[in-house]
Amino acid sequence: MNCPLCQSRSKFAFEAKGYNLLDCVKCKHRFAEISADEKHVAEIYDDSYFDGGGAGYSDYSAESEMLIKRGHMYGDKLKKFVDKKGKLLDVGAAAGFILQGFIDEGWNGIGLEPNAEIAKIGRDEFGLDIRQGSLESFEIEEKFDLISMIQVVAHFYEPRKAFENASQLLKKDGFLLIETWNRESFSAKVFGKNWHEYSPPSVLQWFSLDGLTEFVQEFGFEKVSSGRPSKKISGKHAKSLLKYRIGDNFLLKLIPESINFPYPSEDLFWVLYKKK
Ligand SMILES: [Zn+2]
Repeated sequence: MNCPLCQSRSKFAFEAKGYNLLDCVKCKHRFAEISADEKHVAEIYDDSYFDGGGAGYSDYSAESEMLIKRGHMYGDKLKKFVDKKGKLLDVGAAAGFILQGFIDEGWNGIGLEPNAEIAKIGRDEFGLDIRQGSLESFEIEEKFDLISMIQVVAHFYEPRKAFENASQLLKKDGFLLIETWNRESFSAKVFGKNWHEYSPPSVLQWFSLDGLTEFVQEFGFEKVSSGRPSKKISGKHAKSLLKYRIGDNFLLKLIPESINFPYPSEDLFWVLYKKK
C-alpha cells in the first residue's frame, strides 16, 4: 500500500491489534494498512466508541466539561494570533462540546461529525449546528476563518482529500488548528508498539509535527505556532484507558471516578497553520 500523504512506496513496520502498520520510505509517515472508506468511519465512530471504553471515550458526556474547557483553552490561545474572531468549522465535533467552548470565547460556527446519532444529540440537546459527515466529502457554500481538528487527523481515511477540502473551505489567511498524537514523542518511543495510540482500526495515521507541517504545505498551509496542550481527564476515563492497557487490575478500584487527573500530554502536540 502506498503512503496516503506522498503516495510513495512503504515498508512493513510492525503489527498492532492484528493490523499491519507501514512506514513510508520517503516522508516516513506511519499508517495502518487498511483501505478505509466512509463506511469504515461510520462503523468505528458508532455509539460504542463513545461509551464503550477502550481506545475511544468512556462515557462521553462525563467528559463534556473538560471538552468545553478545551475549547476555552484554544480560544484563549488563538487571541495571540488571530485579530478577529469569525466563523469556525470544528471537524470531528461529536456532540459539540469543544465547539461550545469556542462559542463561549466569541467564535460562531458549526461542527462536523461522522456519527449521525451523536450529531443529532448535539443539535437536539445542546442546540448546536452539528452537521453529519466527514471532511473528506463535506460540501458547503460558505468559507471559514478557522478550522479546528482536535484529535481528529489520526482518524482520517483519506488525509489528502481531507486537507485539500480544508484548504478549499478556508478563507485566504484563514487558520487551521490541529491537536494530535506525536509519533516522535518520548512516550511513543518508550512504549514502542505498545504505545496507546497504536490502536487501529480506529486510528489510521500516526503523525509527527515536522511530518504534518511538511505535508500540509502542499495545500497552502504555513506554520504559525505549536506547543503541547495540558490536559485533564476524569478518573473514570483514566481507569478505562488503564484497563485497556494493563487489563482488569484491582488497583483500578482505588481511582476515584469523579476527580479530574492531569493526564501526561507529552505525546500530544497542537499546531496552528495559516492558509496563504
Ligand atoms: Zn510518504
